[in-house]
Formats: sequence, C-alpha cells, structure tokens
Amino acid sequence: MLPDIILDPGALQCLCASAMETYSRESGGFLMGKMVTRTVKKKSCRMLLISAAYPQQTARRGYAYISDGNKLAGWRARVLLYTLSGLKGVNLVGGYHTHPHDACELSAGDLSYLYDEVRYHKGRIGFPVMKCWLEIVVSVDKRKYVTKYSEEPFHSWHSHKRKIEGIVAADPGTGYHFTVGAFWVSGLDADSKDEFKAMGRKNIIQEAKVHGPF
Ligand SMILES: [Zn+2]
Repeated sequence: MLPDIILDPGALQCLCASAMETYSRESGGFLMGKMVTRTVKKKSCRMLLISAAYPQQTARRGYAYISDGNKLAGWRARVLLYTLSGLKGVNLVGGYHTHPHDACELSAGDLSYLYDEVRYHKGRIGFPVMKCWLEIVVSVDKRKYVTKYSEEPFHSWHSHKRKIEGIVAADPGTGYHFTVGAFWVSGLDADSKDEFKAMGRKNIIQEAKVHGPF
C-alpha cells in the first residue's frame, strides 16, 4: 500500500499559483517530500509530506501538453534535484502538472511521458530509474460570478474521498477552482513502454488520498 499525501501549506501555494499563473496553458514541475507521522481520526499514520514543488521554468507549454522547452536547461534542473535528493530526508518523489479545464486524472499521454521521464538521465550513475513516481494533477477552471464575493481576498477548501478542492477569488467576480489529485504510478521500471502499457491502468495507477493543510 503506497502512502497518503499531506501537502505543506507552501507546496499547496506553489502548485495552485503555478496553475493560476499559466491558467490557459499547462504548467508542471517536480515534487520533493519526506515520510512523516501524522494523526488522522485519532490514528497515527505514516504519510508522505510534500514539502516543496518546483515549477519547471523553461518548459514548453500548451493548452493540453507540457514538455521540455530547453532540453539542456531541463537537464540541469534534474541534475540539481537528483543530486540533492535525500538531503535531510527530503527526496525527489515525483512531479506535477496542471490540467486547464480538464479532469483531475492521468491521461494515457501522461503515463507515456512518465515512462520517459524516469529514463531522462539515460542510466547515468547515481540517477536510478524510479520504479514508483508520484504525479500530482491540479485541474483548474476560471468561473465568473453574478453574485460577487466580498472585496477581501478569499479562499476556501474542502476534502473529497481522495482529492481536495478549493476556490481562490482573483477579484470579487472571478473565482479559480482547483482540484488536486495525487497518483502513484508504478511499474515504471518495465523493460519497454509496451510492457508498461500492457500492465493496464488499474495495476499501474494507485490514487492516494491528499490531506490538505487546512
Ligand atoms: Zn495530464
């Protein structure tokens, strides 16, 4: 059983700011985290704390895709993240990307991208192929309101069975709606992409419960 996720307040801010800044195009990057013990409903649970999210600055962004824009720059960011992985128990654990006006689920294209992502370093020593990767998807929607919010900055969050959902008001008449889902993807060490795909979504993806910092 792979662990639930708890978002540090700063990580939630980075994930949602990243989605809101490039609202009509996808945005994405990497996630850092460490295992912690938290009490949920009076039970002590081990879960993965996402302590930071790094938005990839040189990514090529489109409405329904994100990829490396500058390959060398993307490589440099990964070198840093892999090299510092493990510092004070904080590891590179996966990545995230946004889905403007789209479902908070992993697409077939996302899975194929992740298979390549864990091989980006092409077997360089010290850069293992991660068998298991956590991918957070932040879906974002802009909505206009007839009944205006208060003039004060406003945000509100709630939890679903696994995902969390929130609204942030950009101004009294516009709200950005976020849904945050976290997906453990396993089997990434399969010998070929075809073998990976043949395992089937159910065996590859396990959705984790996201605990928000609220
Ligand atoms: Zn996607």
